[in-house]
Amino acid sequence: MTGDGQVPASRTPAAPAAAAATASTSTIIEARGIVKSFGQTPALRGANVLAAAGEILAIMGPSGSGKSTLLHCLAGILTPDEGVVWFNANRLDTLREAERSAVRRDRFGFVFQFGQLVPELTAEENVALPLLLNGTRRAAALQEARTWFGRLALDGLEHRRSGELSGGQAQRVALARGLVAGPEVLFADEPTGSLDSVAGEYVMNLLTAASREQGTTVILVTHEARVAAYADREVIVRDGKVSTLTGAAL
Ligand code: ADP
Repeated sequence: MTGDGQVPASRTPAAPAAAAATASTSTIIEARGIVKSFGQTPALRGANVLAAAGEILAIMGPSGSGKSTLLHCLAGILTPDEGVVWFNANRLDTLREAERSAVRRDRFGFVFQFGQLVPELTAEENVALPLLLNGTRRAAALQEARTWFGRLALDGLEHRRSGELSGGQAQRVALARGLVAGPEVLFADEPTGSLDSVAGEYVMNLLTAASREQGTTVILVTHEARVAAYADREVIVRDGKVSTLTGAAL
């Protein structure tokens, strides 16, 4: 890498490869040639994937295939050992940790399998968290957070703590928290994994409706076909590489 944060020209493709290939849509996130190992354990072995702005993309595959690692690389939580990640045609993988953290805070939203609400905070305080972290004043953040309770069928639960919510309710609070700051990309890692099928379908209906309404791109990791069915497009991770449903390599 050169001192100004750019990679040498020989390693820098002129533009994210798919941007030219899909004239009608713009690529918001693209990863090429991602290699990532944890010690001696290879998780990704040259993974390629892209998401078009506004689409809901499901990343499927068996347990241990590398889905979460890929999601974490796309979201700038992990940096790959090799390969390139672009967000809006800017390199994400070469940013310093503080800059990647700012991108995550200001431009991305997250929903994880077990919601991961802060137990000491009320539901509305949990939803308001991303706004408070962005510097929004507390009263305004809570006011905005409350608007999500009606949208996600959580009316009346504003003052409950996570221990007083059902799994489905807690996951809808986590979803509201993921969307409240109007992220450009929502990353969801097994967002229904801890729920029964009825609660899971409810969360997926709300997630997809709210994302489409906001124009949010969704990148969703799941091992369940019925969850992936909500997506516009699916890719499969096997042994650390990505292919399409037909098995064609990306
Ligand atoms: P998936 O999401 O498809 O279940 P992961 O991306 O979580 O797969 O894991 C891919 C591989 O990397 C697995 O072999 C897993 O054990 C390993 N792995 C993932 N995260 C870590 C970690 N933090 N430390 C060590 N090994 C890890």
